[in-house]
Amino acid sequence: METPAGPELSDLEQAVAIVRGRSSSLLGDDLAAIDSNSSTVQAVARAVWVLRRHRANSEDAPTGEELLAVHDQLYESARYRNNGHLEALAAALVGHGLVPDSGAYGGEWWLWWPKKSRGPCVMCGEVRSLTRYAERFGNPYRYLCARCRKQEIADNSAWLDQVTGVVREEGESAESLRRRRFEAIIQSEIAAAESGPRKDVRPTDTEWDGYVDRLVDLLSPLGWSGWDIPDSYDSDWDAEFGPVLFADLNRTDAWFTVEYRPLDCAMTWAPYEDVCGEHPQSISVLDEAIEVAAPLHGDDAVKEIERQAGQLGLLDATRVRIAEGAAVDAVVEFRASQLRNLLVPAMAYRQMDAQALMESIAADPHLRRHFDHIVGLLGCDVFPDAIPDIAAIGIAMWCWRNGTAVEEHHLPGDVLMARVNIAVTQAILPHIDPFEGIDWKAIQHDLTGSGLQLPDGQPVLKLFGTGWTAVKSSVQEQLEEWGRVDMDILGPDTTLRLMTIAGSTSFTSSWWGQGRWRSICTRIVEDAVAGGLALPQPFNFQGAPALIEALQQPHLQSDDVLRWFIDMPDGNAGGPLGLRYHHVTQPIVHTYDPWWAESDIEE
Ligand SMILES: [Zn+2]
Repeated sequence: METPAGPELSDLEQAVAIVRGRSSSLLGDDLAAIDSNSSTVQAVARAVWVLRRHRANSEDAPTGEELLAVHDQLYESARYRNNGHLEALAAALVGHGLVPDSGAYGGEWWLWWPKKSRGPCVMCGEVRSLTRYAERFGNPYRYLCARCRKQEIADNSAWLDQVTGVVREEGESAESLRRRRFEAIIQSEIAAAESGPRKDVRPTDTEWDGYVDRLVDLLSPLGWSGWDIPDSYDSDWDAEFGPVLFADLNRTDAWFTVEYRPLDCAMTWAPYEDVCGEHPQSISVLDEAIEVAAPLHGDDAVKEIERQAGQLGLLDATRVRIAEGAAVDAVVEFRASQLRNLLVPAMAYRQMDAQALMESIAADPHLRRHFDHIVGLLGCDVFPDAIPDIAAIGIAMWCWRNGTAVEEHHLPGDVLMARVNIAVTQAILPHIDPFEGIDWKAIQHDLTGSGLQLPDGQPVLKLFGTGWTAVKSSVQEQLEEWGRVDMDILGPDTTLRLMTIAGSTSFTSSWWGQGRWRSICTRIVEDAVAGGLALPQPFNFQGAPALIEALQQPHLQSDDVLRWFIDMPDGNAGGPLGLRYHHVTQPIVHTYDPWWAESDIEE
């Protein structure tokens, strides 16, 4: 006779202890009445049992249906929701792609369903790190991977017409439309704030949770670019100012401070001060406080924050120069700590200490050469941040443009070369994820296959003619080498950081795809206008804002527009400069000044 599968004795004992513990402390039940046959103990025991099998991840792992049945049974025993098992079951269910409808469990399921988890993304179906997004504007509660959420924000214009009531006027630039919609949203937000939650009433727990969710969403462009976006914030409330949330945002050793006032639809970004001296290596990436509009609803605000952060260089890797006369010991320690920041994920991946890892790097000729070149020399001022968009530039630079046959078969004209570089960078972008790292196989497929083409449909392989065979095999070789280094030596996180540094050298300071691209375009066009230069057709009619917007997608512009943008017609005669020589392409560089360390320089 077979024993029916079910909780074992140890599971039951644990369940009895849990139920008794809660009963005696909180409920005052008669302890004697709690025995292993009570329905509550049974429900808890089943939860303990399936979670144990789920964590063991063996052949005996529970199915999604089984997890759901146990979850629902435990949910019915309402008193025992708070011991963590319901949350753990919900996280396991997300892993199976099982997420409730918004009205399920009294509409309150999101209270114990995790904000972040791992499982299949509802949009792309890939198993990835997921974040839960709130229900609004026709989208249900949903778990999305970082890349799909980024895409969703980019695709949001249809509902914006509807929500804001602002539609594009004939000949209006996207930039102008975006501005008008944004203003409409802020106006309606302010009206809503005045009639909705009042500043002089303390927010409920649910309202606080909503403000935190909104802040996390508003800061998502920074999260994509490697900033650590917390799930909980310091908060304050008073009758005059209403609710306020605060946090120090951090990426590698760079910091700044965020203050969010939801009912004012506003945020302040301010310089970070290491008040307690906890972070002697810290760099504040802001020198002064700035105000950022932050309406309670709508993805347009997320785009506006992306624009502001991009302009401040917060979406690119942090660059740091060391103050002159700094104490040598402090400088050595600072450099060592940046190397540590780069290598710590690899040490965890390889289960080895720093020295063994360095030896393993030195023993690999391909990695050693690039490590010396990229980390030691060209990128020595760049923090090892993990930024997918910048790593894509790094891969385009080091696996396509440099060290391959592409240079020998140089295409005629810088405009064509730029078009191909952009096409390559765009083909790489979808294969980098902030959590999963770089999919080298997929990049190889897309760069060396026949599918790589310019926006007009010309296949890139045709441009190279008979040179394509050499280009293809040399690019393939670079990608294979890096794929091997990623898998065998560094692991996904350190590789992503290394590629971010590789995409942050002076070779690519004028490349499309950087966080500062929009502000670079804006400055160049504004300088040209101020210098009295005519804009290229058709923007001499449409105006500078339309040109700036168009340049966000430079590959879609005509040769004349790109030529104008790269080298202004009068660029050599002391007139305004184009992309090639304009100083705005130089990255923002911060200064590290260990003033607290004793200088070695003798008086
Ligand atoms: Zn996805």
